[in-house]
Amino acid sequence: MKRTEIIAVGSELLLGEISNTNARYLSEQLSKYGLSVLYHVVVGDNFDRLRETFEQAKRRSELVIVTGGLGPTNDDITKQVLADLLGRPLVRDEASLDTIRRFVASRGRAMNDGDAKQADVLSGAEVLHNPAGLAPGMWVEDETTWLLLPGVPREMTAIVEATFPSKFSGATIVSESLRFYEIGESALDEAVSDLMDGVNPTVAPYAESGEARLRVSAKAETEDAAREMIDRVKRDILSRVGAYYFGSDEDTLAAHLIRELRRRHATLSIAESLTGGQVQAMLTAVPGASEVFLGGVVTYSDKLKNRFLGVSLATIESQSVVSKQVALEMIQGLVDQTNSDYGLSFTGEAGPVSNSGRPVGTVFIGVKTPSGMEVIERVYPHQQRNVIQARAAKDGLWALWQRMKKRRINVRKNLV
Ligand code: ATP
Ligand code: MG
Repeated sequence: MKRTEIIAVGSELLLGEISNTNARYLSEQLSKYGLSVLYHVVVGDNFDRLRETFEQAKRRSELVIVTGGLGPTNDDITKQVLADLLGRPLVRDEASLDTIRRFVASRGRAMNDGDAKQADVLSGAEVLHNPAGLAPGMWVEDETTWLLLPGVPREMTAIVEATFPSKFSGATIVSESLRFYEIGESALDEAVSDLMDGVNPTVAPYAESGEARLRVSAKAETEDAAREMIDRVKRDILSRVGAYYFGSDEDTLAAHLIRELRRRHATLSIAESLTGGQVQAMLTAVPGASEVFLGGVVTYSDKLKNRFLGVSLATIESQSVVSKQVALEMIQGLVDQTNSDYGLSFTGEAGPVSNSGRPVGTVFIGVKTPSGMEVIERVYPHQQRNVIQARAAKDGLWALWQRMKKRRINVRKNLV
């Protein structure tokens, strides 16, 4: 395994103007090839500091990947610094110059020094064609191997996709992160503990914002072979805890729900109080949500709960605004207006101090399905405001999915 270091060049990174997503992407890609990334370094566009950073990398790493500073402007100095450090001159690459010349001509303007500068490469470097921009990447074999990539993420990823497979071929590592809800981390661990001793594929648990996950990673000659190994373990895992599984990798609870609603050609609307629109934001973050999600309201005050949803002020007075009855009247009022097949309403006490008289962390969620309405109660004790809000939002989505699933099973049973 090569000791690998990633250096991101750019003062904007240091100023906090942009996040170092390039390093994250590169690490993710490199892990697929079994390369261990030992350092992420960020350095500004300054000759001396950049040289010092490269010297350090040369001493401690076998493969150094640099992103940024290959462009046409004066602050782009990455290759000049490396040329200086390695004692190799910069030479003009004719093929790159041709590409640039054609691009410039297509824009109907004359070549300037900045344009031409982008065609300069370290002597002896393998020039990596940039399919998404003008500045080429470079692969430089020295005592240390250097890979120079443009900073623009689209250009960088294009070059990575074209070069990594051939450069780092051999074993491929593929991972899939299985996402579960409602099952606690320890219960999940227990259910699959025998699989966690596996060496290939490996199964590793981790928790993230109320969800439990299992990361399954397999190493094989080809990506397909690794996928197959993962699928086998995945089937085993789902045969045990499939009831709590909703998706993999970037798949969210909201995306899962939208998918299921679309499959049923069913509609959804939402009425929120303590979650302040979070549930609707989660849903609208999913492409294609508009086919099934009609919309909803955020009724934070008693007054608007009454005016927009018809919640009776007498109910609020007698039961408190955080109550089963208010959640029920919210969902009734909502569905009266929207006529959606499914609906959710949220009222609760997010804290830090209780305004309703209910303990902080008490939440009532109204759930409407074609077979009726009900209210579920949740209590999240000793949690922060944002955690209570996020948990309530996800619990609502999950509760709805559980009821949709049951319905589907019932329908099937009736058919048999
Ligand atoms: P250009 O030809 O555009 O000058 P370059 O190779 O010189 O490209 P930079 O000037 O360093 O690259 O960065 C160009 C843009 O790419 C930055 O403004 C920023 O938006 C993005 N970028 C650079 N580095 C990173 C990084 N590490 N992570 C995410 N985005 C980055
Ligand atoms: Mg630049």
